[in-house]
Amino acid sequence: MEENKKLVTILIPAYNEEEVLPMLYERLLKLIDGLPKYNFEILFVNDGSTDKTLELIKEMRKTDSRVCYVNLSRNFGKEIAMIAGFDYVRGDCMINIDADLQDPPELIPEMLKYWEEGYDDVYAKRKSRKGESPLKKLTSWGYYRVLQSMTNIKIQTDTGDFRLLDRRCVEAIRQMRESQRYTKGLYSWIGYNKKEILYDRDPRAAGKTKWNYRKLANLSIDGITSFTTAPLRWAALIGMLVSLLGFIYMVVIIARTLIYGIDVPGYASIMVIILFLGGLQLIFLGVIGEYLGRAFYETKHRPLYFIDSYNEQRETNIR
Ligand code: UDP
Ligand code: MG
Repeated sequence: MEENKKLVTILIPAYNEEEVLPMLYERLLKLIDGLPKYNFEILFVNDGSTDKTLELIKEMRKTDSRVCYVNLSRNFGKEIAMIAGFDYVRGDCMINIDADLQDPPELIPEMLKYWEEGYDDVYAKRKSRKGESPLKKLTSWGYYRVLQSMTNIKIQTDTGDFRLLDRRCVEAIRQMRESQRYTKGLYSWIGYNKKEILYDRDPRAAGKTKWNYRKLANLSIDGITSFTTAPLRWAALIGMLVSLLGFIYMVVIIARTLIYGIDVPGYASIMVIILFLGGLQLIFLGVIGEYLGRAFYETKHRPLYFIDSYNEQRETNIR
């Protein structure tokens, strides 16, 4: 490694990606060859893969000392795999990229250009999403709008984790050790100079997505509950609204009883009101429970992950 050149880390979380890794590596090599101005570190986080992912990475490292890896003790999920990677990044800046080539590495020179101009967070925004179902597109569109309506911080739409971060952004994110992570939100939260570049998102080059609707739904809920307590406030506001309506209705009933006498039939209306209010109470108990559950996990203060090894080195502790 030559001194006086800046070090750029390419961070790649990988979980069962044996099919795409060779392709990815080839594309990265081509790219790196075109950028002699920088030193590179290709940092893989092996997130408990059960296939040959780790072997392939070790193979690469044998011939290419720029390849480094963090091997986690089990599968922790992408969000945790990323913070583990952040902890081991050595570069002056870092580019986070998915293993499946959905994020074209060819965008990296442009990202580096903006970084040199002084931007701290250069993120790639999708113009299109090839190979994704209309339902996934629609839900993701709707979700970002809902999330934005609940918070003052500007949420970046159609943006994933594909971005360049300056060292100081990496350090900022490393300080946020919450266990229920929603890293997309954290990028917005830390601030700094942001620059957007547009690209077409490709379909996965090979292998299968690890996401399903259950995982996505969980991530969406994490997104909201880790970012804002707006749902709790809504609960209070809706509660107030309902009690106001209840009060008006009470006045109406009392007045009617005074004027027309007692009016016995009323079973249907009572049932409807009881069921409606009961349902509403259960929903909001669920919302409160969601926040309480998160508080429960955070108060345990467990380490976010354990690593098995960093490169050839056997590890017993995290950084
Ligand atoms: N990933 C990971 N741990 C997991 C699931 C995924 O490290 O438990 C990695 C995966 O190897 C890939 C990236 O996260 O590099 C994005 O995963 P995927 O392509 O399955 O998600 P999608 O693009 O469908 O959102
Ligand atoms: Mg993908």
